[in-house]
Amino acid sequence: MTYQGVLTKMQTELGNPIQYYLVFEDSFLNVNQLLDKEIEINFAGFECLNCHKKKKIFRQGFCYDCFYSSPAVGDWIMRPELSTAHLGIADRDLEYEQKAQLQPHVVYLALSSEVKVGVTRKSQVPTRWIDQGATQAIAVVEVPNRYLAGITEVALKDHYADKTNWRKMLQCNTEGCDLILEKSKVENLIPAEVKEFFYAQKNDVYELNYPVLNYPAKIASLNLDKTPSFQGKLVGIKGQYLIFENGTVFNIRGSEGYVVNINV
Ligand SMILES: [Zn+2]
Repeated sequence: MTYQGVLTKMQTELGNPIQYYLVFEDSFLNVNQLLDKEIEINFAGFECLNCHKKKKIFRQGFCYDCFYSSPAVGDWIMRPELSTAHLGIADRDLEYEQKAQLQPHVVYLALSSEVKVGVTRKSQVPTRWIDQGATQAIAVVEVPNRYLAGITEVALKDHYADKTNWRKMLQCNTEGCDLILEKSKVENLIPAEVKEFFYAQKNDVYELNYPVLNYPAKIASLNLDKTPSFQGKLVGIKGQYLIFENGTVFNIRGSEGYVVNINV
């Protein structure tokens, strides 16, 4: 059976293990069902996720022009502390930014490759953690806008990583860690204007279990620009990565906007 369509990040469902779906225009595929099976991925072109033209993808699924004009990829996405909608100041499109920034956000600690700090819209819990391949996560503060989350993250970056080492994450080299204890250390580090939002009592630790049969010892990343046709046996799914038997890993999120045929 062949599925064809433009790649977007896999949709997920919290379960034991987590369920993954590739969603195309006319069909969808439960990726968990492909575990232990040979699949083939063929590059078939580009489609910008914003303008839908068949233009080469520049970054994050967008063509060059859209990447530098769409409000969906402003600098405040990657650097929440640059958010200005709470001041009524536009970056690219104030209406869009007000909708995205002026809503509850959570600053969290997650164990992916090591303990890292991050920011997400509250509506994206636990999706954001699954996308990062975290095995455990705990919310530290819930604040009413993205700016306050951003300045909290900046304060905590001096003490915790803010990026996931994806190789370590995919090789499952994480050491155990007590996130409740880590969270208790954080209270004194957060900015004064955020202290009232600290989750003093709420100590729910999310445990996330990924469908992985084997963790690879050595990994190599599949890049469709260099390898337009790939075949291999799927042995795991973690974060937004497919893991194959020979140690090849394919970052679906990193290939958004690529049109593919998938033979299963
Ligand atoms: Zn475009």
